[in-house]
Amino acid sequence: MKKVLVINCGSSSLKYQLIDMETEAVEAKGLAERIGIDGRLKHTPAGKDTVVIEEAMPDHNKAVELVIGALTNPEYGVIKDMSEITAVGHRVVHGGEKFNSSVLINEDVIKAIEECSDLAPLHNPANLIGIRACQKLMPGTPMVAVFDTAFHQTMPEKAFLYAIPYKYYEQYGVRRYGFHGTSHRYVSERVAALMGKKPEEIRTVVCHLGNGASVCAVDHGKSVDTSMGLTPLEGLIMGTRSGDMDPAILSYLMGKEHMNIDQMMDVLNKQSGVLGLSGISSDFRDIEAGQKEGKAGAKRANDAFVYRVAKFIGAYAAAMNGIDAIAFTAGLGENNAAVRKEICSYLEFMGVKICDKRNAVRGTEALISTDDSKVSVFLIPTNEELMIARDTMELVG
Ligand code: AMP
Repeated sequence: MKKVLVINCGSSSLKYQLIDMETEAVEAKGLAERIGIDGRLKHTPAGKDTVVIEEAMPDHNKAVELVIGALTNPEYGVIKDMSEITAVGHRVVHGGEKFNSSVLINEDVIKAIEECSDLAPLHNPANLIGIRACQKLMPGTPMVAVFDTAFHQTMPEKAFLYAIPYKYYEQYGVRRYGFHGTSHRYVSERVAALMGKKPEEIRTVVCHLGNGASVCAVDHGKSVDTSMGLTPLEGLIMGTRSGDMDPAILSYLMGKEHMNIDQMMDVLNKQSGVLGLSGISSDFRDIEAGQKEGKAGAKRANDAFVYRVAKFIGAYAAAMNGIDAIAFTAGLGENNAAVRKEICSYLEFMGVKICDKRNAVRGTEALISTDDSKVSVFLIPTNEELMIARDTMELVG
């Protein structure tokens, strides 16, 4: 029996899933949170209740130790011992230009991930801490790194370059990298499968709409453009991130509000987007409720969000000289039928037609366009963990 442990490690949290690769079923999943603060582990064996373990987690080593303890616990564990785990797949946020696919982790790979930390100072160091902790507690178990950026490495130069002096790309790697790549890859492959086609036969726009949100143009199986950039701040309006705007706003506002650059970046990353526009919340459930209550801020944020997504889909239709499919995924894309419909209503000019009955669905794979729609529109729940596990198995053999 081949089993892969998938790890997504943040600075104070660690998410995990244990996947049986013969059935691709999740045997257990969980979240270690408040690492370095106090510590809590929520562990859910498949089909059973969640167990909450309150135990001090001063560091990630302790968190991994507790995860191993939960997975092998005689009462709520799912394996006898760690030798049942074939390999570990780690989500790594930034692979820069060094990684265009997943790789088996060795010391050279760790060094290269470290070198990319400059580009993702909040994420890559945390991912590395998770890798080191697992290596320490599971010596001899092969580990694989799966990068959020890798899928987008097929973008052509015209899509990834910013129109600033070229030397900044050469010297510092300033370019569009894009994120959510594992999700865009998974969803675009599912779209092809549902259409009975190969990924190389279709042009798809994937809309990953969660708290972080991005759109990706997938042309015959390859990412050719995506809305996030050097960092995840660019592109769509997100929960708390501004997305696209005139860069001159920074100096203008910094002058007016006497802010330094750190304060300005905090505004753009944490106080903007749906939260900033609505003045209500970054969570779209609150925006939906606010609209029903007639709150102007809720409508303002909803309308701007939807409009921005539609504009990107239009742009990517031009980038690919047409599109065959659109897919919605992530928290909002999977759960909010009104947002899906509003976005698609901008696209009627290209023959997109949503079927209200089919669109009245959440969290499950579904075709939501009419039979005579020129573009097939899908809801596809994303599954980054499964993609990480598959890549891991493929590399480990
Ligand atoms: P994510 O970052 O993928 O977890 O997505 C977060 C966004 O998805 C938030 O704006 C939520 O309002 C929305 N969302 C998540 N789950 C649901 C749900 N069950 N119903 C409605 N919206 C949801």
